[in-house]
Amino acid sequence: MPKAQETVLEIDLKALKNNFEYLKSKLNDNTKFLAVVKAFGYGSDACKIAKFLQNLSVDYFAVAYVNEGVALRNAGIAKPILVLHPQTVNFKTLIEYCLEPSLYNVKVLNEFITIASAEKQNNYPIHIKLNTGLNRLGFWENDVDYIISKLKNIDAVKVKSVFSHLAASEDLNEKAFTLNQINSFKKTSKYMINALGYLPMLHLCNTSGILNYPEAHLDMVRSGIGLYGFGNSEKETKNLKPIATLKTIISQIHLIEKGESVGYNRAFKSNGFLKTATLPIGHADGIGRQYGNGKGFVTVNGQKAKIIGNVCMDMIMINITNIECKEGDEVVVFDVNYTAEDLAETVNSISYELITSISQRVKRIFKN
Ligand SMILES: *Cc1c(COP(=O)(O)O)cnc(C)c1O
Repeated sequence: MPKAQETVLEIDLKALKNNFEYLKSKLNDNTKFLAVVKAFGYGSDACKIAKFLQNLSVDYFAVAYVNEGVALRNAGIAKPILVLHPQTVNFKTLIEYCLEPSLYNVKVLNEFITIASAEKQNNYPIHIKLNTGLNRLGFWENDVDYIISKLKNIDAVKVKSVFSHLAASEDLNEKAFTLNQINSFKKTSKYMINALGYLPMLHLCNTSGILNYPEAHLDMVRSGIGLYGFGNSEKETKNLKPIATLKTIISQIHLIEKGESVGYNRAFKSNGFLKTATLPIGHADGIGRQYGNGKGFVTVNGQKAKIIGNVCMDMIMINITNIECKEGDEVVVFDVNYTAEDLAETVNSISYELITSISQRVKRIFKN
């Protein structure tokens, strides 16, 4: 890759393929793979990622909201797309674009059936979400009889899958809780299948579930963060490769004397001579204000440089006092060595938050 000449997010498609193949190698041949590409493909580019994965053996895609699914269809994605958290106001659009809703309570189930019937649908694929302990979205076990009675005499929709979501699949201290969720899901879904009289797919695992709970892979798994290169554990992160590298450059170097300040509100005050570099990346690009004032750092010619003062909207200043560098040099914000997870940890955040925050202003470049 040529050196960066502006702020860019490089996406390594070979790393994506590696991650996909690694996760896939954990599965039985008959377990399907759903790729989660919500939130712009975890901050990369959902359409490019989905197009690439569509040519590998991905079976399904998922997004959070209807407009994300519409964007995928407009980009030519033909595989099934599950919408994890559709809003009822968008149900007509969802049907128009052949997206498949996750239905998680009586209100959305009934509204979807009403709209699908009005649109003269037959066996429209729906996915029933069960709550097994995350207590975020999902029917409770004692709603199942209602769901069954509701679906009995209706041709407009058909249950394509029954699924749930683990609350702590990455935290092995919560193993007992997770095993409980798995058992509860198996039990409730079995009851549902018996009552329905046909066999929807069952799925439960996200990335950490794939890695930690092989007994819960069932008919399909749903992976997001693993595809993008993070395994939520030191051991697994070695087998995965972050696909995104965020780079920028040095716009200007300043020599700061003792007693001078740097940046807005004079948040940084120098108590000795110091060399700073100003970089064209700020909180509007996804580097939040919490990374300022000595918390976060970047690397310049292989050496760590702390962010000093407040993060501005379009810029940050870093301390390069002992680093050999010049204006125009490349700066790495995160890459495969100093990862987004490492940077996120400096502010007690997680890889998910940092990578999905990289704003649409930052140019995306694809390699391999
Ligand atoms: C986001 C999401 C996933 C993906 O989780 P990862 O930890 O990124 O693999 C899976 N299932 C549901 C319901 C989600 O919301």
